[in-house]
Amino acid sequence: MEIKQNLDRIKQTLPAGVTLVAVSKTKPVELIMEAYEAGHRDFGENKIQEMVEKQAKLPEDIRWHMIGHVQRNKVKYMAPFVHMIHGVDSLKLLREINKQAVKNQRTINCLLQVKIASEESKFGMDLKDTDNLLSSPEISELKHIRIRGFMGMATFTDDMNQVRGEFKKLQECTKLFHRYESDNCRFDQISMGMSGDYEVALEEGSTMVRIGSSIFGSRQ
Ligand SMILES: *Cc1c(COP(=O)(O)O)cnc(C)c1O
Repeated sequence: MEIKQNLDRIKQTLPAGVTLVAVSKTKPVELIMEAYEAGHRDFGENKIQEMVEKQAKLPEDIRWHMIGHVQRNKVKYMAPFVHMIHGVDSLKLLREINKQAVKNQRTINCLLQVKIASEESKFGMDLKDTDNLLSSPEISELKHIRIRGFMGMATFTDDMNQVRGEFKKLQECTKLFHRYESDNCRFDQISMGMSGDYEVALEEGSTMVRIGSSIFGSRQ
């Protein structure tokens, strides 16, 4: 494994202020430790159970990003440590994250997952759902969450024009929903771009790229 070289190669291409989330799902803690020893601290997992198990075995100063679909009844397991939840797609989920954050005397960073892909299978809210969520007066009462911006996944296709168009749509959310910014709602992050499309995502204003296979190798 050339994890350190892979990290270095990718980091060289990142503009200042962009966070590289190393997506370690399905990979053993030994490989995560290799990235950690190379100085890396931001890791992404898509299953809560797997993230909790790995967190217990790894250094405390890792920033764990939940990038997968989140079931409300499992939020409590990651609330003690999770740094950012990228896949928030309902007010009910935000309410639960806030409740668990209060219990742990923490504030949890959240991103709203917006559906930008044309594929049916991708999770996320459309612009109308997103507007409804952000316009809810209840948001201001959820004092232990911070809505930091938006997350999206482009269609899985070789057509980079289509991918670019979808990323543009996500980027525009920051402006589109600017009027909803408040104490716990500040849109300074856009989580978009994976191994196959992160260069395009960066050109379209991504501030967080989520990269797995180009760092750790392909998955089963
Ligand atoms: C797996 C995954 C990634 C990383 O995918 P790669 O193609 O391996 O870079 C990024 N984002 C999400 C939401 C994922 O589930």
